[in-house]
Amino acid sequence: MEPSWDDLTAPDDEPLVYRCAECDAEHRGLPDLAFRLPDDAFAIPEDERPARLRSSNDLCIVDGERHFVRAVLPVPVRETDYEYCFGVWVALEEPDFVRYRELFDEDPPDDEGPYVGSLSNAVPGYDHDVPLATNVHLQPDGKRPRLELKPSGHALAVHQRQGIDLGELLRILKPYIEHADRYSADG
Ligand SMILES: [Zn+2]
Repeated sequence: MEPSWDDLTAPDDEPLVYRCAECDAEHRGLPDLAFRLPDDAFAIPEDERPARLRSSNDLCIVDGERHFVRAVLPVPVRETDYEYCFGVWVALEEPDFVRYRELFDEDPPDDEGPYVGSLSNAVPGYDHDVPLATNVHLQPDGKRPRLELKPSGHALAVHQRQGIDLGELLRILKPYIEHADRYSADG
């Protein structure tokens, strides 16, 4: 059973509302799927992290030589005005990382970037055997950079270009959605 399109709301800034095939309740909005660190940082054993990792909510340096920034990867939801943003990290070359940090508290100049980066988290539901190159577009008003995957046949790049079906997105997000039946089972 697919979600019912009748349940989608149309206006801007309204959360996506849909009838859930999993628990038959109406859900408002989609859960965030965001990574706290790049996968390179998660790969470091916890006891080694204090020595090898410098990180904040938005910046991360691994072993003093690999540089990452927190970004969003937007994917439009087909047949709607909505886009879903995965919260991911992207690897930058050191000069771009330094420049990003310099600009962090101000609006970027109009001609800044895009920087070239590499997606640094394995997004659930997608194959990550090959590095995914991306343009990194800085944003005004303190918003995180938006990633634009370079054109390829990779499913994530195709979805970003052409949109993803809501049903497919819900399958990816299923483990993160709080379904009503999880609460109704034992009251
Ligand atoms: Zn549900």
